[in-house]
Amino acid sequence: MSIFAEGELAVPNFVQWPNFPFGGELHVNEVVDPLPEEWTRNGDPDGPPCHCRENDPMIQPVWSNERWRVTPIKFGGQIAPFPAYMLASVDHLDLEDLDETMAAEFGTLTVKLVRIINEIESVGRTHVNRWGDLGAHLHVWFLGRPKGAMQMAGFSLPMWGFTLPGMAEEQAQANDVFVTERLSR
Ligand SMILES: [Zn+2]
Repeated sequence: MSIFAEGELAVPNFVQWPNFPFGGELHVNEVVDPLPEEWTRNGDPDGPPCHCRENDPMIQPVWSNERWRVTPIKFGGQIAPFPAYMLASVDHLDLEDLDETMAAEFGTLTVKLVRIINEIESVGRTHVNRWGDLGAHLHVWFLGRPKGAMQMAGFSLPMWGFTLPGMAEEQAQANDVFVTERLSR
């Protein structure tokens, strides 16, 4: 029992939707009460250092300028199964920290990236995701759903990203070259 629900919850209808990746006998995990404190995220003032504060080389960006960088997303350390890129600020900022200039650039870059990833031959539609519960650094995911793969529509796409095998390395490299070229225009 928690403040959210009493007793066992029914499995929601969406597990029957054709885009839900998993089947078989499913149950809802026990719902627990909220913690007294939120998680300390990587890069929070009292948290472990953010990747941007470490000397470890990050994944090589496909494009960057003084304030922004775009990197390919790995799912579980593997090449993504579909075109997937992350837009991040160069400085240690979260979404709510952006000043007006950066907020405007964020909007422009978001639209530009969606247009570019949409143009990749294999992509049907590009989805934009931002959560930020593990890290304090702004990371926005741009996920190119494979064309015609309506089984991966909507919220299930990142789950499919972790489930499917990665695309061929040459394909990933060709996509990266395309994104670099288009963002540099
Ligand atoms: Zn950071």
